[in-house]
Amino acid sequence: MPEGDTVYRTAAQLREALAGHRLTAADLRVPAHATADLTDRLVLDVVPRGKHLLTRFDGGLTLHTHLRMDGRWAVFRSGEKWHGGPAHQIRAVLGTVERTAVGYRLPVVELLRTADEDRAVGHLGPDLLGPDWDAAEALRRLAADPARPVGEALLDQRNLAGIGNVYANELCFMAGVTPWTPVGEVTVLDRVLAKAQHLLEANKLRAERITTRDPHPDRRTWVYGRARRPCSRCGTRLRTAPHAEDRPAVWCPHCQRGPAPG
Ligand SMILES: [Zn+2]
Repeated sequence: MPEGDTVYRTAAQLREALAGHRLTAADLRVPAHATADLTDRLVLDVVPRGKHLLTRFDGGLTLHTHLRMDGRWAVFRSGEKWHGGPAHQIRAVLGTVERTAVGYRLPVVELLRTADEDRAVGHLGPDLLGPDWDAAEALRRLAADPARPVGEALLDQRNLAGIGNVYANELCFMAGVTPWTPVGEVTVLDRVLAKAQHLLEANKLRAERITTRDPHPDRRTWVYGRARRPCSRCGTRLRTAPHAEDRPAVWCPHCQRGPAPG
């Protein structure tokens, strides 16, 4: 599932492949921009902002894309067969002489003026992987709604940008609180944010996400993806229920205190 670390790594791959090169092929397969012609544009940079990607071109244009649940960008060498999914799932193609970046299943493909990027990402809170990460500001935004369940608050990109459901679940486990615990009752919120930043940093260039320090494929997370299995800390069976817009929450009823459904 793409979270801030995945998007950061994707931006690095796209920047390495495209930045400094002119596009020899470009195709945006979404109705709003199907006729846009980006051919001959110089790719200036590819920048991650939370879970959003901004690909900037000369002439003051930016391509804004978002991966959401299962979108991805793949980079291929010229002549290489594209293998990121069926052709009908392709939403964007950006090609240079040597490489082609293909965006699969992208729910957001939007061309805008670079000067207007704020329209796409201006609502975001401090970016966990951004050069301007501001823990105090993220803490202030979270604390502004003390009754809100902490799992949901961590997922709200207006509070801080980069956390998806994997990290939201893992951070609640590490903090010893259920995802439904009101933000105002989480006494270690500052440590949760420090941990979040540390985990995303540690995982931003890794192919596999690890939150436990254990690279074994079966032990990379504490709770996420482990519903109904024994807690690796205490052995209690992990529970699962929907939270925050129906995303799955997984928690240990022994290691995590606080409210929980049922
Ligand atoms: Zn436990």
